[in-house]
Amino acid sequence: MKILVDTHTHTLKSAHAYSTIQENARRAAEVGMQAIAVTDHAPSIPDSPHVWNFVNLKAIPRDMYGVKILYGAEVNILDLEGNIDLDEDILKKLDVVNASIHKECYRDYGAKDNTSAYLAVVNNPLIDVICHSGYADIPYDYDLITDLAKKNHKLMEINNHSFYVRRPSIKNCKTIARLCKEKGVGIVVSSDAHISFDIGEYEPSLELLREVDFPEKLVMNRDLKSFEEFMENKGKKLYSWSY
Ligand SMILES: [Zn+2]
Ligand SMILES: [Zn+2]
Repeated sequence: MKILVDTHTHTLKSAHAYSTIQENARRAAEVGMQAIAVTDHAPSIPDSPHVWNFVNLKAIPRDMYGVKILYGAEVNILDLEGNIDLDEDILKKLDVVNASIHKECYRDYGAKDNTSAYLAVVNNPLIDVICHSGYADIPYDYDLITDLAKKNHKLMEINNHSFYVRRPSIKNCKTIARLCKEKGVGIVVSSDAHISFDIGEYEPSLELLREVDFPEKLVMNRDLKSFEEFMENKGKKLYSWSY
């Protein structure tokens, strides 16, 4: 299986990442990808860009080196109520809205059950992808949330970066993948790149999917056509933001 659309990449705009959008796009072109989403961190993480970064994404060309550029963000799930940190009028315009818990800005870190946070997110029509949710110490009801992901056209993410920085979560990522397979929930495999060289590298994630015999047809970012079709079926208009 190949991944030709990377739905989760960071640039220098997030100060703990190290490549420009040009460097990311050039790398994507070199490894034969069709599209990348630029999804820097929303403003609650201390070294994230100003909100103007997201408003002005339309300054980035839609095509760089033959690679389609999707405008996006990685919003932070802030609390058990599922509040997030970018305004609706911005989120509506973005092509890819990733939602994640980051311990640095999750007010309820330490809660024994985080299902209510994910419940709000999976029911939020502005969110597309539930990202790296396998944290060993942030448990939630995977069965319930994957049911609702199916119903609400959400994608569950298998995050390749987790194999390096969130190792204890891998067991849960496999459980989530199994549930998605059983229920027919779409997933994406992403690099969560913090440097351009991460783009195009998905092998640990693909190995996990092979272990659970995951069907290729549910990997919605395997190519741009599949990703566009998924978004169209969800009722989302891509590429709506331009000058
Ligand atoms: Zn993240
Ligand atoms: Zn990220």
